[in-house]
Amino acid sequence: MSRKILVTSALPYANGAIHLGHLVGYMQTDIWVRLQKMRGHECWYICADDTHGTPIMLRAEKEGITPEQLIDRMHIEHSRDFAGFHVAFDNYYTTHSEETRRFAEDIYTKLKAVGLIDVRPIEQHFDPVKQMFLPDRFIKGECPKCGAKDQYGDSCEACGAAYAPTDLKDPYSAISGAKPELRSSEHYFFKLSDPRCQAFLRQWTSEPGHLQIEATHKLQEWLGTPGENKLTDWDISRDAPYFGFEIPDAPGKYFYVWLDAPIGYMGSFQNLCAKKGLNFNEFWGKDAKTELYHFIGKDILYFHALFWPAELEHAGYRTPTQVFAHGFLTVDGAKMSKSRGTFITAESYLAQGLNPEWLRYYFAAKLNGSMEDIDLNLDDFVSRVNSDLIGKYINIASRAAGFIEKKFGGELLNSHFIQEFYADLPGIAEAADEIAAHYESRDYARALRRIMALADQVNQYVDKHQPWQLAKSIEHRELLHYVCTVLINAFRLLTIYLKPVLPKLAQRAEEFLNIAPLAWADAGHILPPAHRISAYEHLMQRIDPEQIAALVAANRDTLAATEQTTAVAAPPVKTATEFAPTIGIDDFSKIDLRIARISDAQHVEGAEKLIRLTLDLGGETRQVFAGIKSAYDPAQLVGRLTVMVANLAPRKMKFGLSEGMVLAASDTDGQTSGLFLLSPDSGAQPGMRVK
Ligand SMILES: [Zn+2]
Repeated sequence: MSRKILVTSALPYANGAIHLGHLVGYMQTDIWVRLQKMRGHECWYICADDTHGTPIMLRAEKEGITPEQLIDRMHIEHSRDFAGFHVAFDNYYTTHSEETRRFAEDIYTKLKAVGLIDVRPIEQHFDPVKQMFLPDRFIKGECPKCGAKDQYGDSCEACGAAYAPTDLKDPYSAISGAKPELRSSEHYFFKLSDPRCQAFLRQWTSEPGHLQIEATHKLQEWLGTPGENKLTDWDISRDAPYFGFEIPDAPGKYFYVWLDAPIGYMGSFQNLCAKKGLNFNEFWGKDAKTELYHFIGKDILYFHALFWPAELEHAGYRTPTQVFAHGFLTVDGAKMSKSRGTFITAESYLAQGLNPEWLRYYFAAKLNGSMEDIDLNLDDFVSRVNSDLIGKYINIASRAAGFIEKKFGGELLNSHFIQEFYADLPGIAEAADEIAAHYESRDYARALRRIMALADQVNQYVDKHQPWQLAKSIEHRELLHYVCTVLINAFRLLTIYLKPVLPKLAQRAEEFLNIAPLAWADAGHILPPAHRISAYEHLMQRIDPEQIAALVAANRDTLAATEQTTAVAAPPVKTATEFAPTIGIDDFSKIDLRIARISDAQHVEGAEKLIRLTLDLGGETRQVFAGIKSAYDPAQLVGRLTVMVANLAPRKMKFGLSEGMVLAASDTDGQTSGLFLLSPDSGAQPGMRVK
């Protein structure tokens, strides 16, 4: 029976490049969708760029472009990266669309009509220089629990404590560096604490099939024991300036980006409906009988399993059939890291000439449908792809194709031999249902183990009959033709099974086999007698470990480069006589130069060029990593005065946060003649402005 299915992947934020960590989720979804389509179901796969919020607004401002220009550019880059990895959306749209705006307004209006929207003032940090309220991630200060400096407004990276930004000691704006003021402003809330939301979410969570078992436990933890009310209202508004949708009856108030992000699924689908003539309500209407699945990372479960179903339910839409959460990606057992070169972008992987299907295969071999993290072990990646894909699967075609081509004019045996085929390779055709069931339950690891066990069985058949021996004598000609025909048919079956994971390779295999695109049901028969195949061309290369080394090197942020840009004053001009372009006094006055006393100086373990300086600005202290180790011994620096840039945006380095820059003179390369730290004449005091 044909199903009608709508599938979404989490929306990537339009503020950064797609990297391998993102690709885990998109590949997982794409494989699942391809299976459904191969099985003849009506399945639509939609996604969009998530385009709103303060980070987009600020980044566009920094680049001197409009947010619309920024998100247009990111849309092109993201689309290119997804296509490069064969992630085939039926629609890849944007949340900055009229469709999404309409649904956001509609859902908000309906929630308001049933009394689930509340308005109340909250106190928030306001940047008096930038004239805007600061999101938690844009406020920094001292951790209220452990006292660590330069922690974000929501949690401490040193001790792990979570808190409200108003709890921070000595907070400052990460945008302007100014001391934020507490100001009151009216915010709009979705009343998740309302008994109706409680009751609905308890019921929805307890219905089997909506969530994975680990996710169900998480939800029960968030909901608390029956009778408890642990849910709090959700703040869905932000004050201008903000890049997003203005709330209909509230000038100067905007929907928080997380309100319109999932609504973007509806916007993208509505856009697809208009293009394809589909019926939107058949998939999103209150009584829709179709299936709706959201594939997400486990970090956004809260949004998709609490807020989202509660919003939909009370605004009169259908709720998701199921939410599938996956884990994070580690590389060689650790978090992806720029300094180790394991923070790998989709673009750089393709630019290095690596085959995207190697990665699709490897990720699929690790994905089991749970919320566990998966690890990309780079050595294992090379050996698994080479031994499974090339050594087992491709090998079957390459061993049989030459004989069919040279000895039999490209023609398979001219007889019906399906009974013999099934007897020779028992179970290989019958495995189709079992493999489909593993894919369906997102246990791709199990599906691929089963497929590779079948490939082993076929390779044993090759070893048993040794076609290269049969080819030596004319009396075995018929048997050779039979054996090679069996092998080509076995290869075709394995191609069907691997096609959701390896769509491009399957397409090339179909050209070689000279057949129409394979569907899942094609596993029920074999190739017709005397079928003619095309000349064999090698279908896939092995991975050369050198390619992986080059990929890691290309993604490594060199320590030297980090130190250079952070620690030395102005970028040195090429020669002493070549000056930087002229600037006006206004540009110069943007730089807040201050006298600073070096109150402490320490070596930095593991850094070749850096000294950690603690700078006293006359009441306030800053930590700065300076690339001056080649010229100074830390001990001789303590107590002396120097000049620092006090309003440089803090920069997170491998060793900690650098909150400014000290000024030093150097020649062009900063090495030949040494480095010279600037000093004021005697009498200058820490904190004085340098003009
Ligand atoms: Zn702390």
